Amino acid sequence: MTNQDLLKIVQDFGSPVYVYDAEKIASQYKRLTSAFKKVKQVKFHYAVKANSNISVLKFLHSLGASLDTVSIQEVRLGLEAGFNPTDIIFTPNGVSLEEIETVAEMGVQINIDNLSILEQFGTKHPKTPVCIRINPHVMAGGNTNISVGHIDSKFGISIHQMPLLLRIVENTGMHINGIHMHTGSDILDIDVFLYASEILFDAAKNFKTLEFIDFGSGFKVPYKKDDIETNIEELGKKLSKRFNDFCGEYGRELTLAFEPGKFLVSEAGKFLVKVNVIKQTTSTIFAQIDSGFNHLIRPMLYGVTHHIENISNPKGKERFYSVVGYICETDTFANNRRITEIKEDDILAFHNAGAYCFTMASNYNSRFRPAEVLWYKSEAHLIRKRETMDDLLKNQVLVSM
Ligand SMILES: *Cc1c(COP(=O)(O)O)cnc(C)c1O
Repeated sequence: MTNQDLLKIVQDFGSPVYVYDAEKIASQYKRLTSAFKKVKQVKFHYAVKANSNISVLKFLHSLGASLDTVSIQEVRLGLEAGFNPTDIIFTPNGVSLEEIETVAEMGVQINIDNLSILEQFGTKHPKTPVCIRINPHVMAGGNTNISVGHIDSKFGISIHQMPLLLRIVENTGMHINGIHMHTGSDILDIDVFLYASEILFDAAKNFKTLEFIDFGSGFKVPYKKDDIETNIEELGKKLSKRFNDFCGEYGRELTLAFEPGKFLVSEAGKFLVKVNVIKQTTSTIFAQIDSGFNHLIRPMLYGVTHHIENISNPKGKERFYSVVGYICETDTFANNRRITEIKEDDILAFHNAGAYCFTMASNYNSRFRPAEVLWYKSEAHLIRKRETMDDLLKNQVLVSM
Protein backbone atom coordinates (compact mmCIF):
# COMPACT_ATOMS: atom_id res chain seq x y z
CA MET A 1 0.00 0.00 0.00
CA THR A 2 1.30 3.46 -0.82
CA ASN A 3 1.00 6.62 1.24
CA GLN A 4 -1.51 7.84 -1.35
CA ASP A 5 -3.67 4.77 -0.65
CA LEU A 6 -3.51 5.51 3.06
CA LEU A 7 -4.37 9.19 2.64
CA LYS A 8 -7.31 8.22 0.45
CA ILE A 9 -8.55 5.89 3.20
CA VAL A 10 -8.56 8.79 5.66
CA GLN A 11 -10.44 10.89 3.11
CA ASP A 12 -13.04 8.19 2.61
CA PHE A 13 -13.44 6.82 6.12
CA GLY A 14 -12.22 9.65 8.36
CA SER A 15 -9.67 9.56 11.16
CA PRO A 16 -8.56 7.98 13.32
CA VAL A 17 -8.71 4.70 11.44
CA TYR A 18 -7.00 1.31 11.62
CA VAL A 19 -5.91 -0.20 8.31
CA TYR A 20 -4.81 -3.82 7.83
CA ASP A 21 -2.97 -5.05 4.76
CA ALA A 22 -4.20 -8.56 3.91
CA GLU A 23 -1.18 -9.23 1.73
CA LYS A 24 1.20 -8.70 4.64
CA ILE A 25 -0.81 -11.11 6.79
CA ALA A 26 -0.61 -13.66 3.97
CA SER A 27 3.14 -13.27 3.55
CA GLN A 28 3.74 -13.71 7.29
CA TYR A 29 1.57 -16.82 7.23
CA LYS A 30 3.60 -18.11 4.31
CA ARG A 31 6.84 -17.55 6.24
CA LEU A 32 5.54 -19.72 9.05
CA THR A 33 4.35 -22.55 6.87
CA SER A 34 7.60 -22.59 4.87
CA ALA A 35 9.71 -22.60 8.02
CA PHE A 36 7.96 -25.76 9.23
CA LYS A 37 7.39 -27.48 5.89
CA LYS A 38 9.51 -30.49 6.93
CA VAL A 39 6.95 -31.46 9.56
CA LYS A 40 4.09 -33.56 8.14
CA GLN A 41 1.28 -32.18 10.28
CA VAL A 42 1.43 -28.56 11.37
CA LYS A 43 -1.28 -26.26 12.66
CA PHE A 44 -1.09 -22.53 13.17
CA HIS A 45 -3.78 -21.39 15.58
CA TYR A 46 -4.02 -17.64 15.12
CA ALA A 47 -4.39 -15.94 18.54
CA VAL A 48 -7.68 -14.07 18.22
CA LYS A 49 -6.95 -11.64 21.03
CA ALA A 50 -4.35 -9.87 18.87
CA ASN A 51 -7.01 -8.73 16.40
CA SER A 52 -10.52 -10.11 16.58
CA ASN A 53 -12.23 -8.39 13.66
CA ILE A 54 -14.31 -11.09 11.98
CA SER A 55 -13.11 -10.08 8.50
CA VAL A 56 -9.50 -10.50 9.62
CA LEU A 57 -10.48 -13.91 11.03
CA LYS A 58 -12.22 -14.84 7.79
CA PHE A 59 -9.11 -13.89 5.83
CA LEU A 60 -6.92 -16.05 8.09
CA HIS A 61 -9.40 -18.89 7.59
CA SER A 62 -8.97 -18.53 3.83
CA LEU A 63 -5.21 -18.94 4.32
CA GLY A 64 -5.72 -22.20 6.19
CA ALA A 65 -5.11 -21.01 9.74
CA SER A 66 -6.98 -22.33 12.74
CA LEU A 67 -7.71 -20.32 15.90
CA ASP A 68 -6.50 -19.89 19.45
CA THR A 69 -9.11 -18.35 21.73
CA VAL A 70 -9.12 -17.20 25.35
CA SER A 71 -12.82 -16.57 25.95
CA ILE A 72 -16.11 -18.09 24.85
CA GLN A 73 -16.83 -14.82 23.07
CA GLU A 74 -13.71 -15.23 20.95
CA VAL A 75 -14.87 -18.77 20.13
CA ARG A 76 -18.20 -17.34 18.96
CA LEU A 77 -16.47 -14.72 16.83
CA GLY A 78 -14.46 -17.51 15.22
CA LEU A 79 -17.61 -19.48 14.42
CA GLU A 80 -19.17 -16.30 13.04
CA ALA A 81 -16.16 -15.91 10.74
CA GLY A 82 -16.64 -19.42 9.36
CA PHE A 83 -14.28 -21.60 11.39
CA ASN A 84 -15.30 -25.14 12.35
CA PRO A 85 -15.29 -25.80 16.09
CA THR A 86 -12.66 -28.48 15.44
CA ASP A 87 -10.33 -25.78 14.09
CA ILE A 88 -10.44 -23.86 17.35
CA ILE A 89 -8.44 -24.34 20.52
CA PHE A 90 -9.62 -22.74 23.75
CA THR A 91 -6.71 -21.66 25.97
CA PRO A 92 -8.16 -19.55 28.73
CA ASN A 93 -6.69 -18.71 32.10
CA GLY A 94 -8.75 -18.66 35.25
CA VAL A 95 -12.20 -19.03 33.66
CA SER A 96 -15.05 -20.97 35.22
CA LEU A 97 -15.63 -24.71 34.84
CA GLU A 98 -19.00 -23.82 33.35
CA GLU A 99 -17.43 -21.77 30.53
CA ILE A 100 -15.00 -24.59 29.73
CA GLU A 101 -17.84 -27.13 29.67
CA THR A 102 -19.91 -24.97 27.34
CA VAL A 103 -17.00 -24.52 24.94
CA ALA A 104 -16.22 -28.25 25.05
CA GLU A 105 -19.85 -29.02 24.17
CA MET A 106 -19.47 -26.84 21.09
CA GLY A 107 -16.82 -29.28 19.86
CA VAL A 108 -13.86 -26.99 20.46
CA GLN A 109 -10.54 -28.40 21.68
CA ILE A 110 -10.08 -27.31 25.27
CA ASN A 111 -6.83 -26.65 27.04
CA ILE A 112 -6.80 -26.72 30.84
CA ASP A 113 -4.23 -24.81 32.83
CA ASN A 114 -4.88 -25.67 36.47
CA LEU A 115 -5.22 -28.85 38.50
CA SER A 116 -8.49 -27.94 40.21
CA ILE A 117 -10.46 -27.61 36.96
CA LEU A 118 -8.58 -30.57 35.47
CA GLU A 119 -9.81 -32.81 38.25
CA GLN A 120 -13.38 -31.51 38.15
CA PHE A 121 -13.58 -31.67 34.35
CA GLY A 122 -11.95 -35.08 34.17
CA THR A 123 -14.32 -36.46 36.78
CA LYS A 124 -17.42 -35.21 34.95
CA HIS A 125 -16.30 -35.72 31.32
CA PRO A 126 -13.62 -38.42 31.19
CA LYS A 127 -14.24 -39.02 27.47
CA THR A 128 -13.75 -35.44 26.26
CA PRO A 129 -10.24 -34.95 24.89
CA VAL A 130 -8.29 -32.37 26.84
CA CYS A 131 -5.00 -30.60 26.25
CA ILE A 132 -2.91 -29.56 29.25
CA ARG A 133 -1.01 -26.32 29.54
CA ILE A 134 2.36 -26.81 31.17
CA ASN A 135 4.49 -24.04 32.62
CA PRO A 136 8.10 -25.07 31.99
CA HIS A 137 9.40 -22.11 34.03
CA VAL A 138 11.87 -21.15 31.39
CA MET A 139 12.43 -17.73 29.97
CA ALA A 140 15.25 -15.83 28.41
CA GLY A 141 17.28 -14.00 31.00
CA GLY A 142 18.77 -10.97 29.31
CA ASN A 143 21.48 -12.10 26.88
CA THR A 144 21.87 -15.82 26.40
CA ASN A 145 21.26 -16.99 29.94
CA ILE A 146 18.60 -19.52 30.62
CA SER A 147 16.84 -18.65 33.81
CA VAL A 148 13.90 -20.06 35.64
CA GLY A 149 10.68 -18.26 34.81
CA HIS A 150 9.10 -16.69 37.82
CA ILE A 151 7.56 -19.41 39.85
CA ASP A 152 4.56 -17.22 40.75
CA SER A 153 3.25 -17.05 37.19
CA LYS A 154 -0.51 -17.56 37.04
CA PHE A 155 -0.25 -19.40 33.72
CA GLY A 156 -0.13 -23.12 33.19
CA ILE A 157 0.40 -26.11 35.44
CA SER A 158 3.89 -26.08 36.87
CA ILE A 159 6.14 -28.77 35.45
CA HIS A 160 7.04 -29.51 39.08
CA GLN A 161 3.47 -30.64 39.70
CA MET A 162 3.68 -33.44 37.14
CA PRO A 163 3.26 -36.24 39.73
CA LEU A 164 -0.04 -34.80 40.96
CA LEU A 165 -1.17 -34.08 37.40
CA LEU A 166 -0.53 -37.69 36.40
CA ARG A 167 -2.38 -38.97 39.43
CA ILE A 168 -5.44 -36.88 38.51
CA VAL A 169 -5.34 -38.14 34.92
CA GLU A 170 -5.05 -41.73 36.08
CA ASN A 171 -7.72 -41.47 38.77
CA THR A 172 -10.28 -39.85 36.48
CA GLY A 173 -9.37 -41.92 33.43
CA MET A 174 -9.56 -38.76 31.36
CA HIS A 175 -8.33 -38.49 27.79
CA ILE A 176 -5.31 -36.22 27.28
CA ASN A 177 -4.78 -35.58 23.57
CA GLY A 178 -2.46 -32.56 23.64
CA ILE A 179 0.21 -30.84 25.62
CA HIS A 180 0.89 -27.12 25.45
CA MET A 181 3.11 -24.32 26.63
CA HIS A 182 3.02 -20.59 26.02
CA THR A 183 5.78 -18.84 27.83
CA GLY A 184 4.54 -15.45 26.68
CA SER A 185 7.96 -13.91 26.49
CA ASP A 186 9.53 -12.90 23.22
CA ILE A 187 11.57 -15.62 21.55
CA LEU A 188 14.84 -13.93 20.78
CA ASP A 189 17.15 -16.70 21.75
CA ILE A 190 16.14 -19.81 19.87
CA ASP A 191 18.21 -22.04 22.12
CA VAL A 192 16.18 -20.90 25.12
CA PHE A 193 13.01 -21.80 23.26
CA LEU A 194 14.43 -25.19 22.31
CA TYR A 195 15.41 -25.75 25.92
CA ALA A 196 11.80 -25.12 27.00
CA SER A 197 10.64 -27.46 24.21
CA GLU A 198 12.80 -30.24 25.65
CA ILE A 199 10.94 -29.89 28.93
CA LEU A 200 7.68 -30.19 27.01
CA PHE A 201 8.89 -33.27 25.11
CA ASP A 202 9.90 -34.84 28.41
CA ALA A 203 6.46 -34.11 29.84
CA ALA A 204 4.81 -35.50 26.70
CA LYS A 205 6.35 -38.93 27.25
CA ASN A 206 4.05 -39.36 30.25
CA PHE A 207 0.97 -39.48 28.04
CA LYS A 208 0.17 -42.32 25.66
CA THR A 209 -2.70 -40.80 23.70
CA LEU A 210 -1.32 -37.49 22.44
CA GLU A 211 -2.31 -36.15 19.05
CA PHE A 212 -0.51 -32.82 19.15
CA ILE A 213 2.08 -30.71 20.91
CA ASP A 214 1.40 -26.96 20.99
CA PHE A 215 4.35 -24.64 21.49
CA GLY A 216 2.29 -21.47 21.97
CA SER A 217 3.83 -18.30 20.68
CA GLY A 218 6.26 -15.55 21.54
CA PHE A 219 7.44 -14.79 18.03
CA LYS A 220 8.85 -11.31 18.11
CA VAL A 221 8.40 -8.81 15.28
CA PRO A 222 10.44 -5.62 14.82
CA TYR A 223 8.78 -2.45 16.13
CA LYS A 224 11.47 0.00 15.22
CA LYS A 225 14.53 0.21 13.04
CA ASP A 226 17.25 -2.26 14.03
CA ASP A 227 14.90 -4.17 16.34
CA ILE A 228 15.69 -7.86 16.54
CA GLU A 229 13.02 -10.29 15.48
CA THR A 230 12.62 -14.03 15.96
CA ASN A 231 14.57 -15.86 13.31
CA ILE A 232 11.64 -18.00 12.30
CA GLU A 233 13.57 -19.79 9.58
CA GLU A 234 16.24 -20.97 12.02
CA LEU A 235 13.64 -21.92 14.63
CA GLY A 236 11.75 -23.85 11.95
CA LYS A 237 14.81 -25.74 10.88
CA LYS A 238 15.92 -26.71 14.39
CA LEU A 239 12.56 -27.42 15.98
CA SER A 240 11.23 -29.34 12.95
CA LYS A 241 14.14 -31.75 13.11
CA ARG A 242 13.79 -32.21 16.84
CA PHE A 243 10.03 -32.63 16.53
CA ASN A 244 10.30 -35.27 13.83
CA ASP A 245 12.88 -37.14 15.93
CA PHE A 246 10.57 -36.95 18.91
CA CYS A 247 7.67 -38.42 16.91
CA GLY A 248 9.96 -41.32 16.11
CA GLU A 249 10.73 -41.85 19.79
CA TYR A 250 7.08 -41.44 20.71
CA GLY A 251 6.04 -43.98 18.11
CA ARG A 252 3.37 -41.88 16.40
CA GLU A 253 3.07 -38.96 13.99
CA LEU A 254 1.97 -35.96 16.08
CA THR A 255 0.77 -32.54 14.98
CA LEU A 256 3.04 -29.62 15.73
CA ALA A 257 1.01 -26.55 16.69
CA PHE A 258 1.77 -22.88 17.30
CA GLU A 259 -0.37 -19.94 18.36
CA PRO A 260 1.02 -16.84 16.69
CA GLY A 261 -0.84 -13.56 17.16
CA LYS A 262 1.52 -10.63 16.82
CA PHE A 263 3.65 -12.35 14.18
CA LEU A 264 0.74 -12.65 11.76
CA VAL A 265 -0.98 -9.30 12.13
CA SER A 266 1.22 -6.72 13.88
CA GLU A 267 3.12 -5.39 10.89
CA ALA A 268 0.08 -5.59 8.63
CA GLY A 269 -1.60 -2.79 10.61
CA LYS A 270 -1.26 0.97 10.44
CA PHE A 271 -3.09 3.40 12.66
CA LEU A 272 -3.82 6.67 10.87
CA VAL A 273 -4.44 9.81 12.89
CA LYS A 274 -4.74 13.51 12.17
CA VAL A 275 -2.70 16.22 13.86
CA ASN A 276 -5.05 18.64 15.61
CA VAL A 277 -2.57 21.06 17.13
CA ILE A 278 1.11 21.87 17.03
CA LYS A 279 1.95 23.28 20.42
CA GLN A 280 5.34 24.73 21.09
CA THR A 281 6.32 25.12 24.73
CA THR A 282 9.59 26.44 26.15
CA SER A 283 11.20 23.04 25.82
CA THR A 284 9.23 20.87 23.41
CA ILE A 285 7.21 20.81 20.21
CA PHE A 286 4.09 18.77 20.78
CA ALA A 287 2.12 17.25 17.94
CA GLN A 288 -1.34 16.59 19.38
CA ILE A 289 -3.36 14.03 17.47
CA ASP A 290 -7.04 13.14 17.29
CA SER A 291 -6.54 10.01 19.39
CA GLY A 292 -5.14 8.92 22.73
CA PHE A 293 -4.41 5.85 24.81
CA ASN A 294 -8.10 5.11 24.54
CA HIS A 295 -7.35 3.95 20.99
CA LEU A 296 -3.76 2.74 21.27
CA ILE A 297 -2.66 1.93 24.79
CA ARG A 298 0.53 0.00 24.13
CA PRO A 299 3.03 2.87 24.52
CA MET A 300 1.52 3.89 27.86
CA LEU A 301 0.78 0.36 29.10
CA TYR A 302 3.94 -1.45 28.09
CA GLY A 303 6.29 1.31 27.02
CA VAL A 304 6.28 -0.04 23.47
CA THR A 305 7.81 2.15 20.77
CA HIS A 306 5.57 2.34 17.71
CA HIS A 307 7.32 3.87 14.74
CA ILE A 308 5.49 7.03 13.61
CA GLU A 309 5.65 8.41 10.10
CA ASN A 310 4.28 11.67 8.73
CA ILE A 311 2.68 10.39 5.53
CA SER A 312 1.53 13.88 4.53
CA ASN A 313 5.13 15.04 4.32
CA PRO A 314 7.32 11.94 4.04
CA LYS A 315 10.24 13.75 2.41
CA GLY A 316 10.26 16.80 4.69
CA LYS A 317 13.09 17.93 6.91
CA GLU A 318 13.28 16.01 10.16
CA ARG A 319 12.57 17.74 13.46
CA PHE A 320 12.04 16.55 17.02
CA TYR A 321 8.48 16.10 18.29
CA SER A 322 6.63 14.73 21.22
CA VAL A 323 3.53 13.06 19.86
CA VAL A 324 0.70 13.14 22.39
CA GLY A 325 -3.01 12.48 22.43
CA TYR A 326 -6.14 14.51 23.05
CA ILE A 327 -7.47 12.88 26.19
CA CYS A 328 -7.34 14.53 29.58
CA GLU A 329 -4.62 12.40 31.05
CA THR A 330 -0.98 11.97 30.12
CA ASP A 331 -1.01 9.99 26.89
CA THR A 332 2.37 10.16 25.27
CA PHE A 333 2.99 8.16 22.12
CA ALA A 334 6.52 9.38 21.48
CA ASN A 335 8.98 11.58 23.31
CA ASN A 336 11.47 13.72 21.48
CA ARG A 337 11.08 11.66 18.31
CA ARG A 338 12.67 12.56 14.98
CA ILE A 339 9.84 12.87 12.44
CA THR A 340 9.61 14.76 9.14
CA GLU A 341 8.19 18.24 9.68
CA ILE A 342 4.59 18.14 10.92
CA LYS A 343 1.88 20.71 10.23
CA GLU A 344 -1.62 20.81 11.62
CA ASP A 345 -3.99 18.51 9.68
CA ASP A 346 -1.14 16.25 8.59
CA ILE A 347 -1.80 12.50 8.76
CA LEU A 348 0.54 10.39 10.87
CA ALA A 349 0.81 6.63 10.50
CA PHE A 350 1.65 4.43 13.49
CA HIS A 351 3.32 1.21 12.41
CA ASN A 352 2.76 -2.25 13.93
CA ALA A 353 -0.85 -1.37 14.65
CA GLY A 354 -2.35 -4.73 13.67
CA ALA A 355 -1.93 -6.55 16.99
CA TYR A 356 -3.19 -5.60 20.46
CA CYS A 357 -4.23 -2.13 19.32
CA PHE A 358 -7.90 -2.01 18.37
CA THR A 359 -8.64 -5.00 20.61
CA MET A 360 -7.42 -2.99 23.60
CA ALA A 361 -9.26 0.22 22.64
CA SER A 362 -11.81 1.78 24.99
CA ASN A 363 -14.28 4.63 25.15
CA TYR A 364 -12.37 6.58 27.78
CA ASN A 365 -13.21 10.31 27.62
CA SER A 366 -16.41 9.16 25.90
CA ARG A 367 -14.67 9.02 22.55
CA PHE A 368 -15.80 6.70 19.77
CA ARG A 369 -13.61 3.75 18.94
CA PRO A 370 -12.06 4.09 15.47
CA ALA A 371 -13.15 2.53 12.21
CA GLU A 372 -11.24 -0.44 10.78
CA VAL A 373 -10.39 -1.01 7.12
CA LEU A 374 -9.03 -4.11 5.40
CA TRP A 375 -6.85 -3.51 2.34
CA TYR A 376 -7.68 -6.57 0.29
CA LYS A 377 -6.90 -7.09 -3.40
CA SER A 378 -5.84 -3.43 -3.77
CA GLU A 379 -9.11 -2.12 -2.43
CA ALA A 380 -10.17 -0.63 0.87
CA HIS A 381 -13.00 -2.47 2.62
CA LEU A 382 -14.64 -1.01 5.69
CA ILE A 383 -14.69 -3.85 8.24
CA ARG A 384 -15.86 -1.91 11.28
CA LYS A 385 -17.78 1.33 11.34
CA ARG A 386 -16.65 4.15 13.54
CA GLU A 387 -18.79 4.26 16.66
CA THR A 388 -21.51 6.83 17.10
CA MET A 389 -23.35 8.45 19.99
CA ASP A 390 -25.79 5.51 19.90
CA ASP A 391 -22.96 3.13 20.78
CA LEU A 392 -22.02 5.22 23.80
CA LEU A 393 -25.60 5.30 25.02
CA LYS A 394 -26.37 1.66 24.27
CA ASN A 395 -26.93 -0.30 27.50
CA GLN A 396 -26.99 2.84 29.63
CA VAL A 397 -30.20 3.29 31.57
CA LEU A 398 -31.40 6.76 32.44
CA VAL A 399 -32.93 6.35 35.85
CA SER A 400 -36.21 8.13 36.53
CA MET A 401 -35.90 10.65 39.31
C1 LIG B 1 -1.65 -14.12 23.66
C2 LIG B 1 -1.45 -15.55 23.40
C3 LIG B 1 -0.83 -15.97 22.22
C4 LIG B 1 -0.30 -15.03 21.16
O1 LIG B 1 0.86 -14.35 21.54
P1 LIG B 1 1.61 -13.42 20.49
O2 LIG B 1 2.74 -12.84 21.25
O3 LIG B 1 0.65 -12.37 20.02
O4 LIG B 1 2.05 -14.25 19.35
C5 LIG B 1 -0.72 -17.33 22.03
N1 LIG B 1 -1.16 -18.24 22.93
C6 LIG B 1 -1.78 -17.85 24.08
C7 LIG B 1 -2.27 -18.88 25.02
C8 LIG B 1 -1.93 -16.51 24.35
O5 LIG B 1 -2.51 -16.14 25.50
